[in-house]
Amino acid sequence: MAYKTINPYTNETLKTYPNATDADLEAALATGHKLYQQWRQETPASRQPVLHKVAELMRAEKTPLAETITKEMGKLIGEAEAEVDLCADIADYFADHGAEFLAPTPLPTDAGKAYYIKQAVGVLVMVEPWNFPYYQIMRVFAPNYIVGNPMILKHASNTPSCAAAFADIVARAGAPEGSLTNLFISYDQVSAAIADPRVAGVALTGSERGGAAVAQEAGANLKKSTMELGGNDAFIILDDADWDKVKALAVDARLFNAGQVCSASKRFIVMADKYDEFVDFMKTEFAKVRPGDPLDRNTTLAPLSSASAKTKLEKQVADAVAAGATVAYGNEPVDLPGQFFPATILTDITKDNPAYNQEMFGPVAAIYKANTEAEAIALANDSSYGLGSTVFSKDPEHADAVARQIEAGMTTINRAWITAPELPFGGVKNSGYGRELYQLGLDAFVNEHLILNA
Ligand code: NAP
Repeated sequence: MAYKTINPYTNETLKTYPNATDADLEAALATGHKLYQQWRQETPASRQPVLHKVAELMRAEKTPLAETITKEMGKLIGEAEAEVDLCADIADYFADHGAEFLAPTPLPTDAGKAYYIKQAVGVLVMVEPWNFPYYQIMRVFAPNYIVGNPMILKHASNTPSCAAAFADIVARAGAPEGSLTNLFISYDQVSAAIADPRVAGVALTGSERGGAAVAQEAGANLKKSTMELGGNDAFIILDDADWDKVKALAVDARLFNAGQVCSASKRFIVMADKYDEFVDFMKTEFAKVRPGDPLDRNTTLAPLSSASAKTKLEKQVADAVAAGATVAYGNEPVDLPGQFFPATILTDITKDNPAYNQEMFGPVAAIYKANTEAEAIALANDSSYGLGSTVFSKDPEHADAVARQIEAGMTTINRAWITAPELPFGGVKNSGYGRELYQLGLDAFVNEHLILNA
């Protein structure tokens, strides 16, 4: 496995990183385990200042941090800056609320005085993807730093510079050695780490394929795991939708981060009488998109993250078309050297089309027609994924009733996908299990330790 920074806009290899050795992994496990033993003697509040310092450094160094993202995986610079801000907010949130989330909980019982405390469990392995290369780390790092679980990070092989930059900020914020050790390790070394008795759990964000492989390792070793996997989220426009809101949000819901968002709206479900109008609207808006240099603030469509991401999406769209889908817009090569895929709209995707139940990780919108509301809900749920979803209706009770019928971990009403420190994030079905962010994210790797005094 080669950890490399290849700029997907210029195709230039900027940096190659040597793989970590088994001795590096052993040292990280030993240091992490020793720190876990030390942290057990300290309070969560004692770890609060480092998280605030991480937030402060990230805000102060936003420009270089954002440029590292953009040069490494192609994200538009404004979106990269927003990611850095969000990370700082997450660090502050867990610094501010961690101790309160970890407060003892009294348990009324006739057996005596009972309560439970939430304690650290030990070293965690964190396996993260490239699409939000700091945010994905922060979702695990901030809560577990407060809890007192040291972490070993295996980041995506195409975002090693982001991994190194994140670990550097943590070290400069004053975190003790072993709190977050970034290692450029292989899949086999990830397996070895999961099997190691000093490791208590593994958090992975990534594809179904990667998630299934790592979850299997965790299961075989009886280690707790969280899996944040892919999505094929529905964007359901009910017959009483506010069309100004729909139109204000639909394009960004799909094209943000060049469409490489797990919880992006990927399937637009529209009532039959509004279907043509919506397709025309999306075509007009997609035609305004400007591919170009992601460091240029006038660019509105970034390249995909890598050559392999582009090849995979090209094949998915070709297969969809071969199986009868209509290209309503796009799918014409972008005349730029980077790893661009054009903003594309597919329609007429039937149930037997491979695209019907596939996550397309790029700027490809699938638009479906529903004849009734029940059909729209059934279509939304007819997926092996269950991450997010969006419902548009002017009537709050109507929207709520539909939202509750969607098989998903998250449903937003009258707004597209969102992530914030105080909102839990995660899915059901093949989108994975467990939650990150909010208190639920902190609860993922704690020992709920019952103390009963009879
Ligand atoms: P991926 O191939 O699964 O890679 C994600 C991470 O897992 C990378 O660090 C990868 O390492 C590692 N990995 C993969 N297979 C592994 C194995 N057998 N053992 C150990 N590590 C392994 O995912 P991707 O396709 O790059 O990422 C995009 C996917 O992530 C999409 O499906 C997206 O929806 C999902 N995602 C989900 C969420 C969420 O919160 N639910 C958020 C963001 C993204 P290498 O890079 O070295 O292969």
